[in-house]
Amino acid sequence: MPAQQTYAFTSTAPLARLRASVAARGGHVRVRTAAGAPFAQRALLHLFFGFLNGIRPIACIDGSYVHSLYVPPTPSTANRRVVEAFLRRTLLGMPTPMAVTIAVTDSCQCSCGHCSAGSGAMHGRATARAVQPAFRRRTGGADVHRVAATQVQRPPLSTEELRRVIAESLDLGVGSVTFTGGEPLLRADLEKLIAGIDRERATVQIFTNGLLLDARRAAALKEAGLHAVHVSLDSPDPRRHDALRGAPGTFAAVRRAVAAARSAGLLVGLSTYATNRSVERHELSRIARLAMDWDVDEVSVFDVIPTGRLLESRSSLLTSLSHRRLLREAACLNRRLGGRPRVTTQTWTNSSRGVAWFIGCLAWNWQFHVNAYGEATPCDFTPLTFGNVRERPLDEIWRDATTHPEWGRRRRACRMQSAWFRERYIDTIPRDASLPYPIGRLDA
Ligand code: SF4
Repeated sequence: MPAQQTYAFTSTAPLARLRASVAARGGHVRVRTAAGAPFAQRALLHLFFGFLNGIRPIACIDGSYVHSLYVPPTPSTANRRVVEAFLRRTLLGMPTPMAVTIAVTDSCQCSCGHCSAGSGAMHGRATARAVQPAFRRRTGGADVHRVAATQVQRPPLSTEELRRVIAESLDLGVGSVTFTGGEPLLRADLEKLIAGIDRERATVQIFTNGLLLDARRAAALKEAGLHAVHVSLDSPDPRRHDALRGAPGTFAAVRRAVAAARSAGLLVGLSTYATNRSVERHELSRIARLAMDWDVDEVSVFDVIPTGRLLESRSSLLTSLSHRRLLREAACLNRRLGGRPRVTTQTWTNSSRGVAWFIGCLAWNWQFHVNAYGEATPCDFTPLTFGNVRERPLDEIWRDATTHPEWGRRRRACRMQSAWFRERYIDTIPRDASLPYPIGRLDA
């Protein structure tokens, strides 16, 4: 049964006259705007859906189309909220987040060299020490350690604190909530947190290493209202994946987790990252092949970012040749695979050959991040804090961040991969500092 919904934007006064009928039919989103709204508003709305229509839906839920796991199904109320954020930002200059990522824990069974949660640790000479597990305990037969060695004095956000962060994020306009870690499935209250989120306001997804995602947990997550699960896969080669994760058996766990999530009726993504070496070896094509065999909906490819444990390792940055190759390979795969699994790359999001004019750097623009201890950062890769949600309301932090001389403007390319940004905002962080580092101290 095709879904149809009327989109109205009455909570934003200048958009009060804009109304549209949005319907999913025949593989396309059909949009009809009512006369009376200014031309620019109607044109931008059509542009947004024109962009979505350039992508084939990967799934259909209750008649609504899923174009990407990161975009709430069209039409839906959560999708309308994302569209409203887009219109507010683009047309009215009112920064409004579409999405939030929240690290619900920094504990993890894996010990990845590229872990961004390691940004909670000291950098510079102290990195090697911080990479060692700070705490160890046995859970389900696997070692669990806390990544952020320097923050052990403060407890992670409690269930109640996380609920407040989520509520404040939704009040800011967010239409997509993503739980990350560490490993989010280590939190016993994860289902409770998910169930507490109004599905009309936002879709919820998690990123997981898959080790704890069995049939029972997948069913509980689905029951709680989870929209999608992204399982991390670092390499299509089982032995290399296990080695990169520092935990034997993780490749087999990914396979099992994907199957469990699928059987539970969840949307499923594989999440990976590109390095110069993996691009050269066309590993993405092999991962896409696995994704097809495993009936996965989307493959997300992040650029390797010098952050966390790699903060000092600029040599790991993708070269422009790798970016170009990755763009070509992803485009070719999307053509060959017919749109499912969809291959989404950060390179495409941040490149002028992709959709940088439309999306670009998400940090304090379309999205923000809250770490396991409540520090609000531009994204989970940028080790700079704009305040702690335990101490300040999120809307105040958002206002400060989006009027900051740097984050108050849109950037098309990834800041964390930019030489001038790193010179100004990363290299100036004192070498013995605990991360994330307060932005105010760099601005002073
Ligand atoms: S700096 Fe911007 S583009 Fe780079 S990882 Fe963070 S949000 Fe993404």
